[in-house]
Amino acid sequence: MPSMIAMQLDAPGGRLHRVERAIPRPGAGEMLVEVAACGVCRTDLHVLDGEIPARYPIVPGHEIVGHVREIGPGVEGFAPGDRVGIPWLGHTCGVCPYCRSHRENLCDHPEFTGATRDGGYATHVVADAHYCFALPDGYSDVEAAPLLCAGLIGWRALRLAGEGRRIGLYGFGAAAHILAQVAVWQGREVYAFTKEGDEKGQDFARSLGCVWAGASTEPSPEQLDAALIFAPVGALVPAALKSVGKGGRVVCAGIYMTDIPSFSYADLWEERHILSVANLTREDGTSFFAMVEQAGVRTVTESFALEDANAALAKLRSGDLIGAAVLVPGKGG
Ligand SMILES: [Zn+2]
Ligand SMILES: [Zn+2]
Repeated sequence: MPSMIAMQLDAPGGRLHRVERAIPRPGAGEMLVEVAACGVCRTDLHVLDGEIPARYPIVPGHEIVGHVREIGPGVEGFAPGDRVGIPWLGHTCGVCPYCRSHRENLCDHPEFTGATRDGGYATHVVADAHYCFALPDGYSDVEAAPLLCAGLIGWRALRLAGEGRRIGLYGFGAAAHILAQVAVWQGREVYAFTKEGDEKGQDFARSLGCVWAGASTEPSPEQLDAALIFAPVGALVPAALKSVGKGGRVVCAGIYMTDIPSFSYADLWEERHILSVANLTREDGTSFFAMVEQAGVRTVTESFALEDANAALAKLRSGDLIGAAVLVPGKGG
């Protein structure tokens, strides 16, 4: 029986270990995909640490680029050989009040790739075809991988930030490096806030067109219309709130954040908003992929062998990564 390799997490707080198992067959509406590249997202660290709901044992990974190898009964629109992207949103129920009101990102009975169903830290994965995307041709497999979460959940966050001209990005990792390029292309001024002393990160932000880059402990040099927070640091919420003007929005774009310290009502007054972004809808994906090539977005990546997933996660955790880490099955380690 043909077998596959996966990097599996048995319980929160552990390390991933290599497992070999039979290649699964796709069920009705599903596809078997051979993984070409899988991005490493901060959410994977939260799964690793048990900070968000997940099923264990689990194979993480929800920024998957691969090729269809087998389609199950009833799949339309895809054929063996097609290149597809598999995102975080793995399945929705279709019948709950959220699904029925174009808010499937808030579904009451969702499945999430790499959290409640096995993901792409593997050579093969089975996905629900309804939640897979065709990908723009201008990106290699590795370049496309970070678009699947950092890109499209970041895109959802940017849209929720409104039309304001001055945008602050707090935490300049995989998501911000993509969204900065989109926002600059849209004609906005982008201000990048990094960890104090992260000069490499600040140079990187300026190289992508940000008009200013500095420490998140500094006040913004200009009043912002909106701030997007990608770092999982609750203290950034009141800090960002002080930097946005009247009616400004502070969008928390991560799935997990440490507690938010208390702040004065005066900082929220004058119709400032704080909101979170949860998951994605398929429309976020289609609108993002329709725009991203035109916007000239390039991703900056560092590739790791699949078996080096623990090293990739450690590098993300340490903050030493520029751009996005991507796992590549078959890459020499
Ligand atoms: Zn639902
Ligand atoms: Zn993610």
